[in-house]
Amino acid sequence: MRVFNFSAGPAVLPLPVLEQARDEMLDWQGGGMSVMEVSHRGKAFVAMLAQAETDLRSLMGIPSGYRVLFLQGGATGQFTAVPMNLASAGAVVDYLDTGIWSGKAIAEARRFCTVNIVAEESASGYTTVPRADSLRFTPGAAYAHYTPNETIGGVEFPYVPDTGGIPLVADLSSTILSRPLDVSRFGLIYAGAQKNIGPAGLVIVIVRDDLVGKARSGTPLIWDYALMAKEGSMLNTPPTFGLYIAGLVFRWLKAEGGLEAVGERNRAKARLLYDFIDHSGFYRSPVAPDCRSWMNLPFRIVDPALERSFCALAAEAGLVNLEGHRLLGGMRASLYNAMPMAGVEALVAFMREFQRRYG
Ligand SMILES: *Cc1c(COP(=O)(O)O)cnc(C)c1O
Repeated sequence: MRVFNFSAGPAVLPLPVLEQARDEMLDWQGGGMSVMEVSHRGKAFVAMLAQAETDLRSLMGIPSGYRVLFLQGGATGQFTAVPMNLASAGAVVDYLDTGIWSGKAIAEARRFCTVNIVAEESASGYTTVPRADSLRFTPGAAYAHYTPNETIGGVEFPYVPDTGGIPLVADLSSTILSRPLDVSRFGLIYAGAQKNIGPAGLVIVIVRDDLVGKARSGTPLIWDYALMAKEGSMLNTPPTFGLYIAGLVFRWLKAEGGLEAVGERNRAKARLLYDFIDHSGFYRSPVAPDCRSWMNLPFRIVDPALERSFCALAAEAGLVNLEGHRLLGGMRASLYNAMPMAGVEALVAFMREFQRRYG
């Protein structure tokens, strides 16, 4: 039996995608083999990947001056690849520090260049984002990096920072494809697939042409954007099954009405849960109201001693993986694209009943 899976990642995938993958498992495109068993350089696979890129480009409205790269090593690999590709050894780079994932990106960048912290939200316990008009970027910085959605803290920027021409780099792992986005505001976007795209093992990089071809010497071949662009992301064997599933997810998103429609649904899902939490007098959201994530919604019970049994009883009711991140505790409901409204309604009904019994 399928459950409602609120995991932050790897995460829920759309049921029609899983069903199609099941149906094609033994015989993909009439070849008598699964997609995992065919050559990545074969005609069928190359055409499938080209279609996946076309679909992603049309979904996100990616302008023609951008390359789309399908890489490996996760978003964590990009913590390294970004400074190696975009900044020379002596360069200054700007970072916004808004939580655990941006903190990890900063620690890695410090191994490669001089990091200037433009904003730092530790005073609030990383429950806020900086005000747009408070950001002072470093003139001449090689790039400015931020994490639009902090998957663990549940903090999301309600705006795209204006860097005044410095290339803006975004770790979009947990919010890519959740709503429309103006890609032309960015120099580079990267996103691990296992949150809102597909299985783990694939990371997507969308990079503006003028930022490709500047990798410092010593950059690993598989993370050199220029080489990977030249080879069509096929310098070596790509994660073929992950690419296949990602392609199915892009098609599913188009059938769902594209990012405008999906974004409206995501907004409604998040609003339903936040509204219930805020009016319950029993649950609370730790995040400032103006920067609450639509994708990852942490919450607490006013009496934290009840949280363990909350998660256990929820799991018995088919609402699984609601435990908060091990560093923060509490609960977290991740409402990625593939989580239907029915899942959020079931969660709210369970929370109401739990409160009635234990509140
Ligand atoms: C999950 C996540 C990462 C880490 O992804 P890996 O694929 O495990 O390297 C980095 N940044 C954000 C925002 C994430 O949500």
